[in-house]
Amino acid sequence: MKTKRCGECGSKELSEKNQRGKPFPWREYPAVFLTKDLRVLECDLCHNQILSGNDVTRLTQALVDSVSENTGMFIETILTREKCSQIELATRLGVTPEYLSEIKSGRKQPGFQTYNFLKTLASDPKSFIVSDPNYTGEQKRAV
Ligand SMILES: [Zn+2]
Repeated sequence: MKTKRCGECGSKELSEKNQRGKPFPWREYPAVFLTKDLRVLECDLCHNQILSGNDVTRLTQALVDSVSENTGMFIETILTREKCSQIELATRLGVTPEYLSEIKSGRKQPGFQTYNFLKTLASDPKSFIVSDPNYTGEQKRAV
């Protein structure tokens, strides 16, 4: 087998590293944090990842899974904490209940804005109050 080199710095000191928890850009997402174990070659010096065609396929699948997993988690967190229905949450997000159900189950991938909004609602209870279409106390947050 031919010795591989780092595409960035040319080093031959490469080792397989688990990429779980690391951020990767994906589609319109600036960064998706991997929730799955994924071992790929990485440069020991500059930490550049050396991806084969097969790695790219595996990475893409892992990113798709990570987005789905996080989306489901955000939705569960919001529904449990706020004791609200999926219909109510869909209204706040400005999406249809069908679409919310599809992204919750992972059948569809949310766009980055919907994903980011869910992430905010899941992590900040105050943002949930502000997201109420009938809320008049503050300027409504842009979706
Ligand atoms: Zn390197």
